[in-house]
Amino acid sequence: MSRTLLIIKPDATERDMVGHIVSRLEKARYSVVEMRMMNLTTEQAREFYAVHEGKPFLDDLVAFMTTGRVVPMVLEKENAVLDLRTLVGATNPVNADCGTIRYEIGRNIEKNSVHASDSDENAAKEIAFFFDK
Ligand code: ADP
Ligand code: MG
Repeated sequence: MSRTLLIIKPDATERDMVGHIVSRLEKARYSVVEMRMMNLTTEQAREFYAVHEGKPFLDDLVAFMTTGRVVPMVLEKENAVLDLRTLVGATNPVNADCGTIRYEIGRNIEKNSVHASDSDENAAKEIAFFFDK
């Protein structure tokens, strides 16, 4: 068993898609082992996306991530990180494979409905960011 972090982004909470997304994850045999609903501050969003410092889209991304509720959750399954990246699909929904979450509900390259950790190392860091006691 391994763990990864998924965040439901503001474009999806705004459309009341929390239950739909959780249902898709559970059908794909993920267990939700931690979950919360919150509004990110600008400082929190900047810290979370610090890896993108210097990229042209960072300011807009931080602004978007603070526009509404987000739902970070820890998901558990075998091969959780890589399998979730596959289920989530490409960053830009127009490039995402049919059947992926971003293909189905992503609006555009920024408002793409969900975040998923990209490595076991980053999953551990991102889980600690939201959940470590
Ligand atoms: P992913 O979420 O697929 O791992 P990245 O780590 O490259 O993608 O980017 C983080 C987030 O930044 C994306 O999910 C998306 O919301 C936003 N983003 C990435 N690239 C762009 C871009 N070119 N224009 C606007 N927003 C972007
Ligand atoms: Mg990423």
